[in-house]
Amino acid sequence: MDPGRFDRWGGLVQGDAPFVVAGPCSAESRVQVLETARALKRLGIGFFRAGVWKPRTRPGGFEGAGEPALQWLYEAGRETGMKMGTEVASPYHVEAALSAGLDFVWLGARTTANPFLVQEISAALSGSSVPVFVKNPVNPDTGLWSGAIERLCNSGVSMIAAVHRGVTSYVPMLYRNDPHWQMAIDMRVRFPRLPMLCDPSHIAGDRKYIEEISRKAMDLDFDGLFIESHISPSEALSDARQQLSPEGLSVLLSGIHARRPDCVNGEYQESMEQLRAKIDEIDDALVSLLAERMKISGKIGEYKSKNNISILQGGRWDSVMARVLEAASGYGLDAGFVQDVFNRIHRASIECQENRE
Ligand code: PEP
Ligand code: MN
Repeated sequence: MDPGRFDRWGGLVQGDAPFVVAGPCSAESRVQVLETARALKRLGIGFFRAGVWKPRTRPGGFEGAGEPALQWLYEAGRETGMKMGTEVASPYHVEAALSAGLDFVWLGARTTANPFLVQEISAALSGSSVPVFVKNPVNPDTGLWSGAIERLCNSGVSMIAAVHRGVTSYVPMLYRNDPHWQMAIDMRVRFPRLPMLCDPSHIAGDRKYIEEISRKAMDLDFDGLFIESHISPSEALSDARQQLSPEGLSVLLSGIHARRPDCVNGEYQESMEQLRAKIDEIDDALVSLLAERMKISGKIGEYKSKNNISILQGGRWDSVMARVLEAASGYGLDAGFVQDVFNRIHRASIECQENRE
């Protein structure tokens, strides 16, 4: 199973700047769509997002302008040349979006959490060649996220990207959705060529956190951003607090850069090589010290066994740990980390002594 990297997107994605999908949370009116699209086009954005049907957690909110908005998107796409896309949550949405001439679609977090719907949507997309962006489910479940990607792949969808938008948290926290960076990293291990974007808007819930979240995503080697931008955020009918104005988006984008896993700059390369050589040396020394330590543990084990002494002596390990933690704190090392390492070493050394009996 290999959904393919951007190089498989037939020239749709170029260069190594972060890839950006931007646009309002919802398509609200023809004028709002056209004005936002024109402003984002001036920033060089190539993919424009806008929700036509809005999944609302509870009834009563703005549920999107519905089908008429598809025409606004189509018109804005024709005028600006941008690729236009919307969220699809049913086979009906897929058919309406494709027949209106939209260029891409995305599956929202609530849809990814539902394999029945994902299967029906995948079937409706089979035979079309539009890119599909798949948000992670609302709960931290990489199985559901992977499953959605696999169902789309099985239906012949070849341009797929994943979007990390955080997960629901039951406890109050700074952000609207809890970023589970490890989920995105696990997905990359599972699908090494899958493009991975970050949706800092839905993680943040408030525009003041968008920059720090975007930076973090770039540090973690995400391929780009899937981000909300509205021509007049304070007047937005949904997610007003988390949308950036086009100017705000421009400032954000000029301040963040995609990290390159390998850099060609000579000076960087040289110091990187030196640092890596040092790390290799230290790792070798660690392994040899561990071997030495285990040898001594083995000898202690033999001695205890000969003299009929129990392997575990109350208090001894506590004093070892206390001594080690004190030394570690002098070096500014994290106590939890050092404790984990030494507990593991202790377990191995008990196992080694048990084997001597
Ligand atoms: C959205 O992108 O507007 C949206 C509803 O996102 P999510 O599915 O991530 O909540
Ligand atoms: Mn939104």
